Amino acid sequence: MNTLQNPQSSQGSSQETSRQAFPYRGRFAPSPTGPLHAGSLASALGSWLDARAHGGQWLVRIEDVDTPRTVQGSDQIILQQLIACGLYWDEEVVWQSKRTALYQAALDQLNKDQMTYRCICSRKHIEETLRANGAELGRHEELIYPGNCRNQNRHEEKAAIRVSLPSSCVLQFKDRMKGVQSQDLTTQVGDFVLRRADGLFTYQLAVVVDDHLQDITHIVRGEDLFSNTARQLYLQQILGYQIPSYLHLPLVTNAAGEKLSKQTQALGINTNTKEATLDALNTAASHLDIWGDALKPLSTIDEWLSIAIKIWQHKGW
Ligand SMILES: [Zn+2]
Repeated sequence: MNTLQNPQSSQGSSQETSRQAFPYRGRFAPSPTGPLHAGSLASALGSWLDARAHGGQWLVRIEDVDTPRTVQGSDQIILQQLIACGLYWDEEVVWQSKRTALYQAALDQLNKDQMTYRCICSRKHIEETLRANGAELGRHEELIYPGNCRNQNRHEEKAAIRVSLPSSCVLQFKDRMKGVQSQDLTTQVGDFVLRRADGLFTYQLAVVVDDHLQDITHIVRGEDLFSNTARQLYLQQILGYQIPSYLHLPLVTNAAGEKLSKQTQALGINTNTKEATLDALNTAASHLDIWGDALKPLSTIDEWLSIAIKIWQHKGW
């Protein structure tokens, strides 16, 4: 396997024993579409600090399930950047692209429980149905699936597989930073896709299966992923999984107010020197609202991180 050895990972110990000893297991799950930028570093740092502040474990999972979007080599760059920042992980890194049999097994369970159906609708066909129903559609809007294929009992080989939501499906949950939240999946999302017509598993299914199999108890991630939470809670429920706790970190935006991403040409962080790395960490800390004078005069990354853990603990999220 294409693994990058973590200098601080514990070798030889039984993962099963160590899991039971840790009531907190968190993770950072980047998509390898480019190097870490200020936004993804803030997510990495926030989830690492939360795990360390709770005496927990912190895992790294490469979310390359959407293989066409993956940029060759960026997984290794991300891992090197994490190491440069002193953000060491506790177990071997996993790659979603190597775990498709696990996602298929979860999908098989839902198929067997008659929680899914096959759908052959194109995006155009869905848009036409929604317009015919009187909906006004924005250009990049996520479409609320109108259920065209729902009772059609389709058997086509090349079809997407959607989850079949109940007629009312309001999910309520508590976000540690945002408080109590709720979403009506039936009216705000619609039956969503678990496996695409091209055979790729969706983020929604893969992330829920992985968080379950890796015994993740605490999810700390960027606000941009917040809108997926209710879908993931629903899948956790129907698959009979434990529900983790959620904390969504404030979104890091550029001067134009756009989310930092490859699409908005966000630059990769510079970890070439210790000074540059500390600069990147200071910027991430200010995005997370934990920057303070105590972090300023420190000369080593390890010192900086141990102070940052204490500041995080004081925040009491
Ligand atoms: Zn359809």
